[in-house]
Amino acid sequence: MKKITSVCPYCGAGCKLKLVVEKNKIIRAEAADGVTNQNELCLKGYYGWDFLNDTKLLTPRLTQPMIRYEKGGKLQPVSWEEAISYTAKRLKAIKEQHGPRSIMTTGSSRGTGNETNYVMQKFARGVLHTNNVDCCARVCHGPSVAGLQVTLGNGAMSNSIGDIENSKCLLVFGYNCADSHPIVARRVIKAKENGAKIIVCDPRRIETARIADQHLQLKNGCNMALVNAFGYVLLEENLYDTEYVAKFAEGLDAYREVVKGYAPEDVEHLTGVPAHQVRQAMRTFAAAPSATIMWGMGVTQFGQAVDVVKGLSSLALLTGNLGRENVGVGPVRGQNNVQGACDMGVLPNQFPGYQDVVDPQVRAKFAKAWGINVEDMDDQVGVRITEVPHMAIHGEMKAYYIMGEDPLQTEADLGLVRKGFEALDFVVVQDIFMTKTAEVADVILPATSWGEHGGVFTCADRGFQRFEKAIDAKYNVKRDWEIISLLATEMGYPMHYDNNQQIWDELRELCPLFYGVTYEKMGDMGHVQWPCPTLDHPGTPYLYKDSKFDTPTGKGQLFAAEWRAPAEVPDAEYPLVLCTVREVGHYSCRSMTGNCAALQTLADEPGFVQMNPTDANLLGIKDKQLVWVSSRRGKVISRAEVNERINVGSVYMTYQWWIGACNELTQDNLDPISKTPETKYCAVNVSQI
Ligand code: SF4
Repeated sequence: MKKITSVCPYCGAGCKLKLVVEKNKIIRAEAADGVTNQNELCLKGYYGWDFLNDTKLLTPRLTQPMIRYEKGGKLQPVSWEEAISYTAKRLKAIKEQHGPRSIMTTGSSRGTGNETNYVMQKFARGVLHTNNVDCCARVCHGPSVAGLQVTLGNGAMSNSIGDIENSKCLLVFGYNCADSHPIVARRVIKAKENGAKIIVCDPRRIETARIADQHLQLKNGCNMALVNAFGYVLLEENLYDTEYVAKFAEGLDAYREVVKGYAPEDVEHLTGVPAHQVRQAMRTFAAAPSATIMWGMGVTQFGQAVDVVKGLSSLALLTGNLGRENVGVGPVRGQNNVQGACDMGVLPNQFPGYQDVVDPQVRAKFAKAWGINVEDMDDQVGVRITEVPHMAIHGEMKAYYIMGEDPLQTEADLGLVRKGFEALDFVVVQDIFMTKTAEVADVILPATSWGEHGGVFTCADRGFQRFEKAIDAKYNVKRDWEIISLLATEMGYPMHYDNNQQIWDELRELCPLFYGVTYEKMGDMGHVQWPCPTLDHPGTPYLYKDSKFDTPTGKGQLFAAEWRAPAEVPDAEYPLVLCTVREVGHYSCRSMTGNCAALQTLADEPGFVQMNPTDANLLGIKDKQLVWVSSRRGKVISRAEVNERINVGSVYMTYQWWIGACNELTQDNLDPISKTPETKYCAVNVSQI
């Protein structure tokens, strides 16, 4: 029996665990003393591994390469040589006929690791010659990256997960940490025990609201109005730190000009939050010796998400809650390695280490290191994954190489996404399970899973952590970066790595932010946070020391925008708002957790539609009854969960089930900057079956 150190593959909390292995089987998981989890795990950490032992799999594991030679034909098992040669030939032909920008690729925010993401974006940029590479950050925290890069200079959490419990005030906005990051929720509880004031802004009475000093139960879709009202109170009541703002921030006059129209009393009808509560919240926030703002997808999955992110960071700037311990802004990243996928340049606008693709010097540096002509590199920002269906329908996108993502379940408006996929000439899926997207692929490239390979993940607080291989893969599968390297070589660009560390050393040489994060240092320290620019640098627990911001002027940028209504509002036919949420026992599209026996037991049937008793009574719906949920785009079956904690007028569904998939109903109104869809708001009806 041996114990292998790993990092949980589910959420961005980055919990360390030990996989106990006997005869190439996982026996159990034990909590380890990681920096972020301190010997604690949630259910997914303890029980989210047994798909590796090939127990009763709901979704089949991909065990060998397969090709569908003709549209409408069957997937046929093939050798690796044939799969690589066929894929390379088809990609080359499409590139030659339609140009590099007609091919889209994705990295993965899940169990594959940073090295693979680096290799995937290198393949896109260095072999296909396109910046069309993206990841699921687009549909979750893309707005946090885009907003914070402008206002503060970096698109990541400014603080550490460990800092949360020492902050004296937590403003938790659109973030249900108990379900999405249970170990972060433990830090919130510890903060409360340490005397912190907790202010929760959420339409539902979420778990954290139970321990909150104030719960501001705002109406869905009114985030910008409430954030502006917060700003109004800070200025009108002189609660802001005038000295700090004068020294470290810019844009106060323009900010004041916008928020002056958002007196809490004037926008009460819009936000649904009594004015005295808004004022009290800001008095508490401003008076705290240290305050932290945390947010989740209740902020980012809206058509006005980037504006709200900028508005939230402005509250931190106005009160001087940046650039020191126990304060800051915390967009808590969703999937375990979504921070890492962004760090590795699986973004259409940035190379690894957040270096801009439109900067000729940056392009020249990467071209030289990769041994390619700089003229061959794409000098424009690439396509985002949410744009692909539209482009495919219009004939502008021809091929899609998808690694470790399942857009046919996780993207908004699945009817539209399906049409987009039908219009594509060639789809390659590299994954571990026969996901909804794999079912329509022309080529399947089966990869090793978390547990069957090692590497480096980045957790939500910018901490790089190594994870080890625990067992040998039992099937005819290869490591993700090995598959990509074979494809690159077959397409005429020789690419070979012996191991993860070779890839890691190549990328850190190219990324000043990560240069000092060696494998050895990660081994010694366990968790090294970027920026870490030199070999003797210990890493950076909090950003913007002494309030020196990484913006062009070195100052934080204050920002407010007028509130915009969501794109589709309720009417007589579709009288309720649908908001998508998580459930604690499963993760993302559920392909991994859905194949774990203990987690299946927790939630063993397709989802729920949560609704308030008032709405349920009006519609004649009883608790646990099967119902239809319909929108202008589709209709699905679900089970009603009638619950006082839900606000009147709204219903909530998870996107973790392929039967009763809420994304059949959602709409793809995209934030104009980040192109993130408004999956937290569309109009639906719920009816009896
Ligand atoms: Fe930790 Fe998240 Fe894994 Fe739970 S799912 S054990 S909170 S990393």
